[in-house]
Amino acid sequence: MNSDEDTQITRTVDAFGGTVTNYDRLMTEFGISPIEEILDKLLKEKRHYYMNRDILFGHSALEPVIEAMNKNKPFAIMTGIKPSSPEYHIGNLVTCNEVIYFQKHGGKVYFCIADIESYADGRLPLEQAENNAIENIADLIALGLNLDNAYVYRQSQQKDVMQLGYLLSSHATYNMMKAIYGEHRLGVYNAAFIQVADILLPQVLSGPIPTVTPIGADQAPHARLSHDLARKKFFQDTYKFFLPGFTFHKLLQGLDGSDKMAKRNPMSVLTLYETPKSLKKKIMNAFTGGRITVEEQRKLGGRPEICRVFDMYRYFFQDDDKKIKEIERTCRAGELLCGVDKKNLLAIIKEFIQNHEKKRQDALPKAREVVLERLDG
Ligand code: SF4
Repeated sequence: MNSDEDTQITRTVDAFGGTVTNYDRLMTEFGISPIEEILDKLLKEKRHYYMNRDILFGHSALEPVIEAMNKNKPFAIMTGIKPSSPEYHIGNLVTCNEVIYFQKHGGKVYFCIADIESYADGRLPLEQAENNAIENIADLIALGLNLDNAYVYRQSQQKDVMQLGYLLSSHATYNMMKAIYGEHRLGVYNAAFIQVADILLPQVLSGPIPTVTPIGADQAPHARLSHDLARKKFFQDTYKFFLPGFTFHKLLQGLDGSDKMAKRNPMSVLTLYETPKSLKKKIMNAFTGGRITVEEQRKLGGRPEICRVFDMYRYFFQDDDKKIKEIERTCRAGELLCGVDKKNLLAIIKEFIQNHEKKRQDALPKAREVVLERLDG
C-alpha cells in the first residue's frame, strides 16, 4: 500500500475519534459486505428491523453466525462498554439493541467492562469505573439483556485478554497498524490490540465458535485488524479461530443537526437519564427536515432523510416497518407537521424513560451483585 492510500483510509474513518466521512468508501477499503447480500440466508422471522432500514448496513464474516442462528446452534456475541460515565448514552442503545436481538436468537453474550480504555482515555480511576459499570449494567438489564446467558468481565482483570493482546501485538508491524489506523501514538495501537483480544476472547474461553461483534461503522479498523491477525498461522494453529463476524451500523448524528452526538455538546446528545425538562428542550429544538413555514411544508412536504426526529423513530421508537413508512409518507406529503411530530415523539420517549428508570432501579441490586461477583471471581 502506498502512502496516498494510507492517507485516504485515515480520512475515511477515525476509530478513536468516532467519525466516518464516507460509508461507500469505508465498505470498499475495509471489505465490508452489504447486509442485503446475506439477508436471504437468514430466516425472515429472525431478521432485525435495523436490517431493513439502512441502519445495520453491512457485515463481515457473518455467515457462520447466520447458520448457527438458523440451526439453533451455539454462537457468541462480543460487546462491551467503556464505563466513563454512569449515564447511558442513546448512541450505545443501537449496539445494545443488536446484542439483545442476537442473544434472543440463541447467542451467549460476552460483556467487557473496558476499564483500561476509560483509564487510558480520561484517567478514570478503576473504582469509579466499577461504580459506573454497575449503573451501565443495570441499564442493560432494564433494556432486556439476560444475564443468565452472559459472561461479564473487567478488562483489567481478565488475564487472557492481556496475554492474547501481547501475542497479537507480536504478530503486527508498525506499517500494518499505520495502514489500518493511520499514524498514532503507540499507546493507541496498544489499545487496539486489547480490543482485538476482547473480540477473540469468547473463542479462547469456549474454543472455536462463530462470533458476532455488533459495532458502529467507525470501529471498522478493529474488525480489519481482528481478521488480519486471527487468520495468521500462529493463531490458526494455536486457537483455530473462526474469523470473528461483525455487523456494522450507521452512526447516529447529533440531535441539534451536528454530525455527531458529542458529550461536549449537550444539545446533540440524548441519554436515558434526561429529566422531563431537558428532554422537552432537546426534542422540541431538534433539527428537522421541515420547511420554514407551515404553508411551505404543506405544499412541499418535509425531508425525513435529514431529520433527527425521524432518526429517533427509525432507530429506537418505532419498530414496525409499516408505521415508519407511514410517518415518512405523511411527512413527504406535507400532511404531518414537525410541531405535531415532535410532540408525539416527546410523549413516547418520556414514557420510555419513565418505564426504563423503574426497571433500572429494580435491576440495580442484580447489577451490583453480578459486577462485583464477576470482578472478585
Ligand atoms: S414532519 Fe416529522 S419526520 Fe417530517 S421533517 Fe418534520 S419532524 Fe421530521
